[in-house]
Amino acid sequence: MIENPYKVLDLSHGASVAEAKRAYRRLAMRWHPDRNPSHEAEARFKRIKAAYELILDPERLAAWMKAHGHQAPASEPEPEPEHEAAPSPAPEAAPDRPRGEDLVQTVSLSLEEAALGCTTLVTLTTARDCEHCAGTGRVTYTHSRACRSCQGIGRIRTPEGTEECGACAGKGFVRKAECSACEGSGRVEAQRNLEVRIPPGLLPGERVRLAGQGQRASATHAAGDLYLEVALRPHDLFTLVGRDLHCRVPVSILVLMAGGSVTIPLLAGQRPLKLKPYPAHGLAYRLKGEGFPGKGGKGGGDLLIELVPEFPLHLGADEQALLRQLQARIEANLALHAPNLRDWQDRLAARAPD
Ligand SMILES: [Zn+2]
Ligand SMILES: [Zn+2]
Repeated sequence: MIENPYKVLDLSHGASVAEAKRAYRRLAMRWHPDRNPSHEAEARFKRIKAAYELILDPERLAAWMKAHGHQAPASEPEPEPEHEAAPSPAPEAAPDRPRGEDLVQTVSLSLEEAALGCTTLVTLTTARDCEHCAGTGRVTYTHSRACRSCQGIGRIRTPEGTEECGACAGKGFVRKAECSACEGSGRVEAQRNLEVRIPPGLLPGERVRLAGQGQRASATHAAGDLYLEVALRPHDLFTLVGRDLHCRVPVSILVLMAGGSVTIPLLAGQRPLKLKPYPAHGLAYRLKGEGFPGKGGKGGGDLLIELVPEFPLHLGADEQALLRQLQARIEANLALHAPNLRDWQDRLAARAPD
């Protein structure tokens, strides 16, 4: 099914191609996947592009209008002057108050900000009613002005002679004109800064809903809602898997062998981790409840530490002598200190012919 292109582009029905172009540019700035890392950006941008292309194609647009029971957009935007004089019908009252579109905006947080909650400043670009024309797109002059189309004559020249000026219905003067502040769209873009409290424990893709902070399509519309979708910046130390945090911690093999202590980073601060002599404890540790917190303080993840053995480099002659001493002691009782080495030597010896 083809979507209503005006709705997708947040335009009033039958908006001009120029308005569609402006709307498309504005939305593409926000939703192009190159600019927006959120999951839905690509799909959203496709919809926006498809809607714009539909509006650009008069034949397809007319077919869509017909199929969906809409009147084709009037090619002459000026209303019939005769109708202007007649009592105008009351604006069509919608059964329930129409709502502006919901907005989704990505809010990029550090892992710590998302885990612990934070207050962040969000800059929103929304369209609001033009103040100059109160959102109507048209201004009414207190005093009528000479019609620009016919220079006040009321008739315009055609190849066949002259005919009544359509812009002023032959009157030569106008009382209404397109609003110059909004180019007749009735809408102007505005930027707003919102300070938003992000609760702790929101995972990437999860949203905060701010009621009534979305798009307001016109003065008679209720505003839509604003959804802030959490995106996480990559973290230097942690990888998030579900709600567990994974962290690889390099440790000297000498500390692993002799036992000691390593410093473990936490979401807030750090703590020491005591190591018994290797391999009593292995290289993987799980610190219960030290992972990404759950919503409402429940169901948080764990911190999974993987110790990565590091071989000391560039040892001098003195240090190497110390290590050789140690190795000599180990070789004196291989069965105890290095059973795998002992086994290997046995297998080599069994293969020897003599
Ligand atoms: Zn205006
Ligand atoms: Zn005129």
